[in-house]
Amino acid sequence: MTQFCRHYMQSISLFYPQLHTPSKAVITMHQKPDGDAMGSALGLYHFLVAMGHQVQVISPTNWADFLDWMPGVDKVMDFEKNREKTKKLLEETDWLFCLDFNVLHRTKNLEKYLIEANCTKILIDHHEQPQEDTFDFGVSNTKKSSTCEMVYDFIVDSGNGSVLNLDMAESIYTGLMTDTGSFRFPATSASVHRAIAHLKDLGLEHTKVHEHLYDNFLENRLRFIGFALMNRMEVLYEFNTALMYIKHSDLHKYDIRTGDTEGLVNYLLTIQGIKFGALVIDRDEERKWSFRSKGRFDVNTFARMNFEGGGHVNASGGRSSDSLEETVNKFKQVIKEYKNQLK
Ligand code: 5GP
Ligand code: MN
Repeated sequence: MTQFCRHYMQSISLFYPQLHTPSKAVITMHQKPDGDAMGSALGLYHFLVAMGHQVQVISPTNWADFLDWMPGVDKVMDFEKNREKTKKLLEETDWLFCLDFNVLHRTKNLEKYLIEANCTKILIDHHEQPQEDTFDFGVSNTKKSSTCEMVYDFIVDSGNGSVLNLDMAESIYTGLMTDTGSFRFPATSASVHRAIAHLKDLGLEHTKVHEHLYDNFLENRLRFIGFALMNRMEVLYEFNTALMYIKHSDLHKYDIRTGDTEGLVNYLLTIQGIKFGALVIDRDEERKWSFRSKGRFDVNTFARMNFEGGGHVNASGGRSSDSLEETVNKFKQVIKEYKNQLK
């Protein structure tokens, strides 16, 4: 299908019959994939392979070391290191699965190749406001805990639950756990726990997954967190908001790598009464924001309106090309407009 005759996204259930025709598939996710992005991509990878398809997972960028234990991760291609191969795979593929993102610019430099790919494009995602006209088939459900839960549903609802194996279970559990904050966020529904019961029946050792993800850092990361909490945090009690800013020199000093800052923003919400946590990190090419909230304060809209971002109601991200100081000052200005909502 070309861009011109593409209609609005059809329900993913209309795609299920195609699963029985051996095909070539590419799976991709957002840049700097987290546990849910990598977990959903690998869960789907193992499923499609088991169904007899030829499958390649392509990550737009590198990923955190703490994902390197995952089954099949050694076969994932980093686009930035394999541009020509990626281009060829996208020219030849029948299907392109886009997981855990819903606007193509979240794949950074890979976006151009995804737009050009002349194949059936399928979306599985749980973020707000999908770019629906980009996809032929798809499911977008912001109530779902994680894209991993949606990949589990995809396998079971397409009538292929009997194909589920331990590799799929470990991959899917990773995103179920990370995107629910270890099963504490409101999206942790009964169906999440039922899916996990099923994965346990397949032999899933959940403690192993938790240890790989959360007990596998270097000393410098913990020292860095201590430093940041002590020196880079401001609590704006007037707005029930806590703010943290990380300088480029801080990242350098503590040798901070991809993934080392994941979870840092969550500390801000552990302060009594704080409803809004905002973390900005001075990355090489941009200032990257992470927003988290408790209750009704909508950080998806906040990120969209002020920092070119988006995500979920209680977890979102954004960016700025201003200096760190300028973007922090902008935050302190715009927060004033939200005083009533943050009471
Ligand atoms: P994180 O702060 O963990 O990077 O992101 C929080 C949530 O917001 C994740 O679900 C992530 O996919 C989403 N997100 C992060 N940055 C952006 C962004 O720039 N645009 C959009 N639309 N979503 C984002
Ligand atoms: Mn997710």
